Amino acid sequence: MSTEAAPSGVWFAPGRVNLIGEHTDYNEGFVLPFALPHRAVVTASAVSGGSSRVRSAQQDGVVEFRAATVAPGEVTGWAAYLAGTCWAFREAGFPVGEVDLRLDSDVPVGAGLSSSAAVECAVGVALAGLAGVPVDPTGLARIARRAENAFVGAPTGGMDQMASMHGRPGRLVFLDTRDDTVELVPFDPPAHGLELLVIDSRAPHAHADGEYGARRADCEAAAAALGVPALRDARPADLPRIADERIRRRARHVVTENERVLQVVALLSGGADPREIGPLLDASHASMRDDFEITVPHVDVAVAAARAGGAVGARMTGGGFGGCVIALCDTGRVGAVTAAVRAAYAERGWPAPVVFPGRPSEGAGPLPG
Ligand code: ADP
Ligand code: MG
Repeated sequence: MSTEAAPSGVWFAPGRVNLIGEHTDYNEGFVLPFALPHRAVVTASAVSGGSSRVRSAQQDGVVEFRAATVAPGEVTGWAAYLAGTCWAFREAGFPVGEVDLRLDSDVPVGAGLSSSAAVECAVGVALAGLAGVPVDPTGLARIARRAENAFVGAPTGGMDQMASMHGRPGRLVFLDTRDDTVELVPFDPPAHGLELLVIDSRAPHAHADGEYGARRADCEAAAAALGVPALRDARPADLPRIADERIRRRARHVVTENERVLQVVALLSGGADPREIGPLLDASHASMRDDFEITVPHVDVAVAAARAGGAVGARMTGGGFGGCVIALCDTGRVGAVTAAVRAAYAERGWPAPVVFPGRPSEGAGPLPG
């Protein structure tokens, strides 16, 4: 009989915020997220036989399933994110035994900061750690995405998991969603006397799923009208060839947004003052508001108030119809920008927004002891 203790440990994975590149992922384009300091932490241990047990400090109860055999549809609700990652890890050809997983996360849920990817990626690195499998960040990100798409049943792109896996302090994760290649781009606001404020608008999410599907369909129609495989392959000069006015505006958002991502990357990689990206953040917001029509009053008001309060650039981040706004501010303006947004909300009788600094942080891995 072995006296060796079963493998166990503590692993984490962060939430993320997207600096720029919205609704470009399903058009095979570019995104530029970074990992947040907010994380999901999983305390994991292998258990012999029986079944797996998962708990969350943010949920009641214990959920049990057999990780060795679990299949889509057998676990629903919050535990599907954990069971689904076990399933996807196994489907990728890795060994999965029964596990005890205790989850605790400070990533706000449903704010568009990807609490779901944080959970999946934390479970993914935990399973890899327990199995002694070397961590391939892109491979684990794909497993985590498969859990969300095929087990939970949420048709999302791969940005969230890639940011959670590849994030680094002081770096953006520049992702080409066509081939999943990643380049880390320097972005360290405090080193330049700046802060990137994340403002949770707390807007009520309305019709987001249906609108997301409608935008995807419009983008497919635009690509078909232009005869390109995806809008990634279109240029601004192509746009007049789209006859339908709405489809043309949708395409214009995606085409110009991809160009803005590349411009931000060129500026920051070239060592420019990060303040120079301000106008690109503003242009991204205008494009989402006017051409893609995915903003709502709560985010438009936050963006306008942040700019009026002295932010050098501001935009909605995430899929839209609520969620968060980011505002790049000189450190000395953080108080004024926060106060301006709070005042604008108070004036309208809206619940106060939650504001915190978003600083690029470490991606998923073992929790340092
Ligand atoms: P988000 O934008 O935060 O990723 P999603 O709807 O994609 O929003 O994912 C949120 C879901 O992820 C929650 O409803 C829950 O099922 C699961 N989840 C996130 N964090 C936790 C947690 N700490 N404990 C249990 N489940 C969680
Ligand atoms: Mg999510």
